[in-house]
Amino acid sequence: MTERRKGGRTERRKGGSRAVRESREALRARAAAILAELKAEYPDAHCELDYRTPYELLAATILSAQCTDVRVNLVTPAFFVCFPSPRMLAVADRADVETVIRSTGFFRNKAKSLIGMAQALVERHGGEVPREMDALRRLPGVGRKTANVVLGNAYGVNEGITVDTHVTRLARLLKLSRRKTPEQIERDLMALVPREDWALVSHLLIWHGRRVCIARRPRCGSCVVSALCPSAKLP
Ligand code: SF4
Repeated sequence: MTERRKGGRTERRKGGSRAVRESREALRARAAAILAELKAEYPDAHCELDYRTPYELLAATILSAQCTDVRVNLVTPAFFVCFPSPRMLAVADRADVETVIRSTGFFRNKAKSLIGMAQALVERHGGEVPREMDALRRLPGVGRKTANVVLGNAYGVNEGITVDTHVTRLARLLKLSRRKTPEQIERDLMALVPREDWALVSHLLIWHGRRVCIARRPRCGSCVVSALCPSAKLP
């Protein structure tokens, strides 16, 4: 195999095949340029779940698994009237919770997680949502993604980057990560994005994924980062 430096890229040749690998510096510069373009395009990007308190965001995020934010936002007003605090939810009848959240899908599992989460908040945290990643992840139904959503949005704490299906898809299309698992992609993005933008970059990629880089029919011709995207399909 032979290697040849060209601009910010390393070209590797083996037999007749050629693979082009971007240098670390070039990748960082491209990531910064993508971030700047998306910030300019979506100056209001934010979490699209409706919430007023950390408890409400935590519950809404649990409900958003395998469900759209729009659907969750239709359900949560009634949910928060019925179960306005962790203490109320902790003693709720599971069937009542299931009835309220039914349309979000997987409602039996979600009801179990929500009640378990509320009971853990009451028993271990005085009914408050903790601000620490480890404590959040020990709550029933709460993984790293949900914990990142709560920390980054309800508390303004940048412990990590929320990686959902949109972030996974866009990070790979933009070649900001070539990894497969959310944990690996999160680590790659954390190495490329300044810490103060960790919550924002997730919103930007999600907004772009919903509006322009739509799964299976990306609108590359209308995309503000097409010049920076190795996957762009332009006429
Ligand atoms: S250029 Fe196309 S594939 Fe790349 S981010 Fe934009 S819409 Fe997605």
